[in-house]
Amino acid sequence: MKQKQQQVLQIAIDGPAGAGKSTVAKLVAKQLNLFYVDTGAMYRAITYKVLINQVQFEDELNVSQIAKTAEVVLDHTDEGTVWCDGENVTQVIRSPEISRAVSTVAAYAGVRERLVELQRREAERGGVVMDGRDIGTHVLPEASLKIFLTASQQERANRRWRELVKAGKNVVFEEVAQDMRKRDRQDTEREVSPLEPAQDAVILDTTGLSVEETAAKIVALTQEAGR
Ligand code: C5P
Repeated sequence: MKQKQQQVLQIAIDGPAGAGKSTVAKLVAKQLNLFYVDTGAMYRAITYKVLINQVQFEDELNVSQIAKTAEVVLDHTDEGTVWCDGENVTQVIRSPEISRAVSTVAAYAGVRERLVELQRREAERGGVVMDGRDIGTHVLPEASLKIFLTASQQERANRRWRELVKAGKNVVFEEVAQDMRKRDRQDTEREVSPLEPAQDAVILDTTGLSVEETAAKIVALTQEAGR
């Protein structure tokens, strides 16, 4: 892997829904003493804001307007609290309603422009592990290491379903799997910054791998990239 001209460590982790990005990214950040930036949470926060403002998700102009003025802040001091205009939205942004609408909102150029600006601002605070869909391709093109994390569709749907059940949500497996497939299609097919591996990304298939095993591989790749 080629050595990038930078001192601060930036690890970009992209991939489809349910690939385990956030769990793995959090662990890698902890092990390497870096900030963890969950960019999906930021798109979810804007989607929540659109919902409570009773703006239609299809109304690109007004949705973009909401994004332009929204202050989304990720709290690095505790368990990843997400703030949107002063409100703690950590829990509400995980609802199936938000999951179903987020990819519509995330496809708008105006929304992406605003959030990419906030994401790069987060990266200026120090070394980061940032996860999302366009981190290696667009947000941090000079990242020290780019990972494209994936897993079989069955395993990804299973993981997401288990996560929701654990959080006390009453969800049907097939609906979770269907919502996920739709979201991945929207994220892959959109015009602005679609989900795709960066040319210099390492593709990591986590099917059958534990969180710890995946994190260990990323830490080892980071050390290799630094040599
Ligand atoms: O990571 P998570 O599944 O919470 O992301 C929710 C949605 O936010 C994705 O399905 C995608 O539509 C959008 N997203 C994005 N770009 C990112 C991160 C998330 O478009 N960098």
